Amino acid sequence: MILVTGGAGFIGANFVLDWLNGNDEAVINLDKLTYAGNLQTLASLENDPRHLFVQGDIGDRTLVGRLLQEHQVRAVINFAAESHVDRSIHGPGDFIQTNVVGTFNLLEAVRDYWNGLEGEAKAAFRFLHVSTDEVYGTLSASDAPFSESNRYEPNSPYSASKAASDHLVRAWHHTYGLPVLTTNCSNNYGPYHFPEKLIPLVILNALAGKPLPIYGDGQQIRDWLYVKDHCSAIRTVLAQGRLGETYNVGGWNEKANLDVVRSICSILDELRPKTDGTGYATQITYVQDRPGHDRRYAIDARKLERELGWKPAETFESGIRKTVQWYLDNQDWVNNVTSGQYRQWLEQHYGNK
Ligand code: NAD
Repeated sequence: MILVTGGAGFIGANFVLDWLNGNDEAVINLDKLTYAGNLQTLASLENDPRHLFVQGDIGDRTLVGRLLQEHQVRAVINFAAESHVDRSIHGPGDFIQTNVVGTFNLLEAVRDYWNGLEGEAKAAFRFLHVSTDEVYGTLSASDAPFSESNRYEPNSPYSASKAASDHLVRAWHHTYGLPVLTTNCSNNYGPYHFPEKLIPLVILNALAGKPLPIYGDGQQIRDWLYVKDHCSAIRTVLAQGRLGETYNVGGWNEKANLDVVRSICSILDELRPKTDGTGYATQITYVQDRPGHDRRYAIDARKLERELGWKPAETFESGIRKTVQWYLDNQDWVNNVTSGQYRQWLEQHYGNK
């Protein structure tokens, strides 16, 4: 049995679905169900005995300790976090609470449990912490991509809180011997992405005839990875990663935000042409840049490729096409997460939660 935290969020839910698609080892899914958590993503698992959903906080040591003990968990994969940079600028408190204090409490609960294990169970146990490339700060156009030896230079409350959590995880390995692994991944995109993030926002606004907002000049560069490739990287690191190591995960897909938006527009022009004969790119609108907006992130994933043989299956072109098609085919999911009907659904299916 594995324990996944934050498994009702974008990446965590994709991970749970992929995991149960590929093998029969059961998953406990611990998620607080903040605005970003969406059990409807996991509706196909509703009657699946391999999926046990528990609503709760990673900071609740008693609950985490009980789940670990009761189910004799062999690995914890920590996705739970506050994850949206814009929200962290307007309200950093929740980010410190979950990403820093929550991770600390989770580590303590895991350490207690791990200390009580013996023999093979103790040797085989893993704690995998899922983190971001944003902890490394920003790059200029001529800098080499981030490698695992880059200094941490976080610039937003979000990235600072994730950097703090990475440091805690590292320290729990060096100080207490906890068998940890950390992954630092670039921007993900794909199915079930909450519509506040750039790619789903642009797809949905385009279809609704709304402006497609671009921060500043749109030349901020990000590396993009299809979410299912991130999930396969996590499975690889969990199975084969060296204890105490960090692994960068990326798709070798550096793109300026404006180019990402233009790609989406041209795929939509092809798949769902506008009736007025104009292209979706006419909806692009420039808005004031985010404060402290990092200019460029790029990730060097060669350690993971070389040591563990991982490679992404999708290019940006294939992944973005699949993503646009997914949003076209799954309007119900979109309507539910955007309309508040989702909350009603939750009450019907899970009582008071
Ligand atoms: P998300 O915001 O979609 O999901 C986060 C999930 O965590 C939600 O289901 C939420 O309900 C849950 N959660 C929040 N606080 C919690 C708490 N205190 N206890 C239990 N559950 C809690 O985020 P995501 O995009 O799926 O990201 C998952 C992880 O991957 C995060 O740690 C993030 O930092 C990291 N990451 C994300 C990206 C990306 O591009 N989205 C890239 C690299 C790394």
